[in-house]
Amino acid sequence: MPDTTVPSAPPRGRRYVIRGGTVLSMNPAAGDFETADVLVEGKSIVAIGPELDTGDAEVIDARGRIVVPGFVDTHHHLFETALRSFLPDALLFNDGSGTPSADPSYFEYVLQKFSPVYRPQDVYINSLFGGLSQLDAGVTTVLDVSQIHHSPEHTDAAIQALVDTGRRSAFGYFEGDGRAGAAYPDDAYRVRNEWFSSDDQLVTMVMGGEMYLGDDVPTRSWTIARALDLPIAAHVIGSSGGSSLFDTLVRGEGGAKKVRLGPDVLLIHMTGMSDFAWKAVRDAGAKVSLAVPVEMVMRHGTPPLLKMQELGMEPSLSSDVETTMTADPFTLMRSAMTVQRMLVNQAVLDQAGNQPATPPLLGTRDVLRFATVNGADHLSLGHRTGSLTVGKEADIVLLNATALNVVPVNNAPGAVVSLMDRTNVETVIVAGKIRKWKGQLLDADLDRLGHELEESRDYLFQAAGVRRNLLG
Ligand SMILES: [Zn+2]
Repeated sequence: MPDTTVPSAPPRGRRYVIRGGTVLSMNPAAGDFETADVLVEGKSIVAIGPELDTGDAEVIDARGRIVVPGFVDTHHHLFETALRSFLPDALLFNDGSGTPSADPSYFEYVLQKFSPVYRPQDVYINSLFGGLSQLDAGVTTVLDVSQIHHSPEHTDAAIQALVDTGRRSAFGYFEGDGRAGAAYPDDAYRVRNEWFSSDDQLVTMVMGGEMYLGDDVPTRSWTIARALDLPIAAHVIGSSGGSSLFDTLVRGEGGAKKVRLGPDVLLIHMTGMSDFAWKAVRDAGAKVSLAVPVEMVMRHGTPPLLKMQELGMEPSLSSDVETTMTADPFTLMRSAMTVQRMLVNQAVLDQAGNQPATPPLLGTRDVLRFATVNGADHLSLGHRTGSLTVGKEADIVLLNATALNVVPVNNAPGAVVSLMDRTNVETVIVAGKIRKWKGQLLDADLDRLGHELEESRDYLFQAAGVRRNLLG
């Protein structure tokens, strides 16, 4: 069916109705609707249902659209945006094999060469541009795992970028390169006071609590997090000693004290971890973010989707690094679903007729839940976003289901997860505010910002002494 909807201006008032779309609320209590309306007032969703009587509310025509909650990315290193596609073939660490995948590696280049030369203005433009790009792709909430806190000025630049992006963000206050004058983690008190004095704002704070930073820093970061009532996030990768370190700390042994798992803790990757670790994580109610494409490409290990199913846990999804992989939510959902099904399907085939003792196959609704509801819960934002629910804030995406790549739609979650990409993301709303309208991001001079990002890129390569290899 051709799209006959006449584009109109976005509503200007604080009360509008998204009329006549196919609604996937991702809230089992609210249900889904072949055709329904979503009424927004101010920041919030105030009604969902078929043929709502909305009086004089302005109308967004959603016929031919699939209406979903904004997507949530629970781990994205936004400061690396100028290094996009620099490491498409890279491993996390140089394995000494002498192959193009070993060198350049992520660790040696991004963390050892580039990170130390970042100035506050680089942090700002990289984080802003990456955030706008992901907002354009329908990701209305992110955890920015910001590992660039060489100074309080770097920190302020990172937070200002999240504020200026105008989407819901958890600012992950992680370490920098540890130079003299760096204030991590103790500057968290100032940051919390100056930027996060109110809980009712679009940008919130998460404390980075990396366990690989020796004994003193994790002890302090976890202590500060609990003192300030901040959620904690940390990377956990089993290789390179990470598994035994984690087990030791969780047992309360080892040099770093205060590492106590709880429902306020988000662990990233969890590849290659022991059964002891998994049981401790599950029993504590800690959350797990999987960056499935990056974990597969960069040798973090097999994404532990089956282990989580076995324990009755579900992940949220994350993009990690655009040095190596796109940050769009469709790639994240499809990757999680396809790798889980590959593992299970092969296990079933290998059992050749025996009653298969395999976990259920993931379906499109499952990964859609990972990318919305679970993400919001894992960032302690489930009361505000993650599903289309009366009383929650209006973080909403309208997906064009009249487009060439999805017509005709016979199954809405299937169309979203299996067929769509960022070109279907037509209108994006954050806390009731229209940020993308009919395919155009609003309130952002992308030409100017793109130019500033390229200037930052030129500086970073020059200062790091790295030559670009445009043709790979
Ligand atoms: Zn990461």
